[in-house]
Amino acid sequence: MNKLFINGRWVDSVSGTYFDVLNPANGKVIRQVADGNIEDTQKAIQAARHASDSWAQTLPKTRTQLLSDTARTILTHSEHIARILTLENGKPIHEARVEVAYAADFFTWFSEEAKRVYGRVVPSNTPGRRRIVIKQPIGPVGAITPWNFPLAMIARKAAPALAAGCPVVIKPAEQTPLSAIELFKIFSDLEFPCGTVNLITCSDPGDVGNALLRDERIRKITFTGSVDVGKHIMKGCADQLKKVSLELGGNAPVIVFDDANLEKTVKKVVASKFRCAGQTCICPNRIFVHKEIIGAFSEKLVAAVKALRVGAGIDKDTNIGPLIDKQGLEKVKSHVADAIAKGAGCLVGGNPPTDTALSNGFFFEPTVLVHVTPAMKIFNEETFGPIAPLIAFDTEKDVLEMANSTPYGLSGYVYTNDIGRAFRVSEKLECGIVGVNDERPGVPECPFGGVKQSGIGREGGSEGIEEFTETKYISFGID
Ligand code: NAP
Repeated sequence: MNKLFINGRWVDSVSGTYFDVLNPANGKVIRQVADGNIEDTQKAIQAARHASDSWAQTLPKTRTQLLSDTARTILTHSEHIARILTLENGKPIHEARVEVAYAADFFTWFSEEAKRVYGRVVPSNTPGRRRIVIKQPIGPVGAITPWNFPLAMIARKAAPALAAGCPVVIKPAEQTPLSAIELFKIFSDLEFPCGTVNLITCSDPGDVGNALLRDERIRKITFTGSVDVGKHIMKGCADQLKKVSLELGGNAPVIVFDDANLEKTVKKVVASKFRCAGQTCICPNRIFVHKEIIGAFSEKLVAAVKALRVGAGIDKDTNIGPLIDKQGLEKVKSHVADAIAKGAGCLVGGNPPTDTALSNGFFFEPTVLVHVTPAMKIFNEETFGPIAPLIAFDTEKDVLEMANSTPYGLSGYVYTNDIGRAFRVSEKLECGIVGVNDERPGVPECPFGGVKQSGIGREGGSEGIEEFTETKYISFGID
């Protein structure tokens, strides 16, 4: 059984109750975790508030040291953390290892950025005046994270917040608190100052969320999750005009032009579409293929998809693990059924696997659908499953219109060997991230985030630390 981490100590929850964490591959309980509530959250907020001034005043090099020690320690325990991550989330163990390394990279990147929170000196247009602009830590941060990248999403928030000089109160997803607990064991071992890092695990996100939103001591909310909950968070922050960053869902278009290298493109589309069983915010949700090559493309895609092995993530040969839970599985089933009822064809997959060894998990076969149209749910909503919907297109103008026709705008992908087209299309895609012949654009050193209803703000890059600072202008009269 695991406890909460508040003010530098592992503590029982006020209620003394626990909730189960399940393995989505077999439905069995992995462990029980303390169920935090409003009172626990208020204690964590108080601890963060108390730590705020002294943490803000630590030398940047002190924060650099702690954050780079965190990165190193994560890597030292990489295999252990990756196994826990696979057990709670279901993703294949080789993907979990990549996530652990990716999370460590965020600590490394922001450990360096801690030293580069620069202001500026502005040339004065008034005699006898000097103008400077400084950046200051925004104050205690509430961070709410999803289950699909349980460690990386915390790293993307905690590392820049701590680097900027802000304490954090973190609420991980109910399904995946265990990798967060492993990270907090590292914070604890490294003796982060009391109150700078606090962890509230819980089964009722509403109460804990509201406690973070409504408390004036929390100066910033950073949230990753669905669009609907993101809107709720933003409304909850409106009363106090609390600063908010939202990393929300996507509906990524992939555009494959007829001059693309088919072999390489299929390989890359499979890698990004089926990562984490299609449960990534930037994974292709609509695959537009030029009408001249859609036959050849789908043939190669189907062959690649048939080679993917479905199974428990802990098995080293697995390519496609389970979906996170029953609700996730039902959504995928409903999108496939809706598409087929409206005229889509299924080239491979289309159902949960028949293997009885997988019957207690939330598995779905990797699937390729053709003749997908804008009338289908799968075109308009984020499916979050291992389904590749193909849509034929003719002209650059038509495909851009279709690609930009949803309220989402997180990521988009272009496959072409025509440099002019690559520029034209990337600039016209309405999204925050574009991969040109690149299936994996997310890196700590570049800004990650969406436009339209996919969110507000950026994580990663120098922009990532800016989100946790306030700008102050100081004017000096020297006459
Ligand atoms: P979710 O249902 O919105 O949950 C995200 C987090 O919000 C969880 O910790 C959840 O807690 C919490 N939450 C739920 N209701 C809340 C409330 N009323 N007040 C405060 N917190 C609340 O999303 P999810 O299903 O976990 O994650 C999948 C979504 O995240 C997808 O849409 C995906 O695209 C998006 N995502 C976006 C990015 C990005 O960078 N843009 C990255 C990864 C994922 P519980 O777990 O206890 O419900």
